[in-house]
Amino acid sequence: MGEIMKKYIDDAEAALLHTYNRYQIVWDKGDGVYMYDIEGKKYLDFVAGIAVFALGYNNREYNDALKAQIDKVIHTSNYYYNIPAIEAAKKLKKISGMDRVFFTNSGAEAVEGALKAARKYAFLRDGNTDHEIIAMNHSFHGRTMGALAVTGNPHYREAFEPLIGNIKFADFNDFDSVKAQVTDKTCAIIMETVQGEGGIYPASEDFLKKVRALCDEKDILLILDEIQCGMGRTGSMFAWQRYGVKPDIMTSAKAIGCGIPVGAFMMTEKTASHSLTSGDHGTTYGGNPLACTAVSKVIDLFDELDVLENVRNVGDYMYDKLDELAEKYDCIKAHRGVGLIQGLEFDRPVGDIILRALDKGLMLINAGTNIIRFIPPLIVTKQNVDDMLNILEECIL
Ligand SMILES: *Cc1c(COP(=O)(O)O)cnc(C)c1O
Repeated sequence: MGEIMKKYIDDAEAALLHTYNRYQIVWDKGDGVYMYDIEGKKYLDFVAGIAVFALGYNNREYNDALKAQIDKVIHTSNYYYNIPAIEAAKKLKKISGMDRVFFTNSGAEAVEGALKAARKYAFLRDGNTDHEIIAMNHSFHGRTMGALAVTGNPHYREAFEPLIGNIKFADFNDFDSVKAQVTDKTCAIIMETVQGEGGIYPASEDFLKKVRALCDEKDILLILDEIQCGMGRTGSMFAWQRYGVKPDIMTSAKAIGCGIPVGAFMMTEKTASHSLTSGDHGTTYGGNPLACTAVSKVIDLFDELDVLENVRNVGDYMYDKLDELAEKYDCIKAHRGVGLIQGLEFDRPVGDIILRALDKGLMLINAGTNIIRFIPPLIVTKQNVDDMLNILEECIL
């Protein structure tokens, strides 16, 4: 590493709160599926800013739309209307089949809103304030107090207790364990359709259908967190659309704005009509014109570029190739995932493999200690997958 990069990193470590162990790279720019550091070194990106930059870097139409909106107005208050938010909400309804949208600034904030909506729904039903929410072990829903309370990783939660109360945990893909936690106080069940941070575990169809049926039977709201697995990553716009079930409330963020900080929680009319109402919830920035221009443009570009088709094609290709790799190496214990969210589980921590890959110009990220996660921009090609695999194989010792 050169003097200049070293200096920036020292400055960063002196100024930023130390909540991340960062890789020793300072980025300059991105282009397509490649990133460049400030020394001009090129990297093939299979991280996409953690499943954010779905369209790849430097998409001309996307950049131009944002620049044009900057010159008009970046922010107004939610006490008024703005065209980008109206357009974005209409398009989100169309691609999700949900009926009502609330824009947020992040994934965690979308989860907070979903939890509040569920509590309000139950409160309006029986007037009680002791409702319970069931969440999944090994889930990840974000770092704010409510989202953390439903995150199934005790290590993340411990130092911050007490979080919001009345949360119960069940095992993902184990319907009996969910059923065992249900009481007459249960107001919602929250889960990711594909667990991301927890190690790339897709919900089984049987599990999701049974949970949906249970929710219908007991008037419990099903909240699906699609922040990582949604927006095309599994090959359908939202991961739950592959299963023939529909959530009552869903959350989205990450790729929804492709880099502009924005998220949303959405719900069905039935839920919305017995839930949050005027004065119950708000956010200053949420859904501002700049953020919503991003959402609106991203949805258009998904259509124009046939992104879903590409995810299915290249995702299937990557699936077969990673299967072959898993066959070949004894140190690879499992291969999971769907579309362009896949994981390889090793019999040891994968930190060294990731460092060697970075050295060779490939960006990868873990999901838990032993799992490498593959979450590239959704516009990757089969050739990009081959290039990635060639480097990866050199890094497995
Ligand atoms: C990233 C993530 C979140 C949190 O999103 P932030 O924007 O980081 O707050 C919540 N749920 C899932 C499934 C995620 O992957």
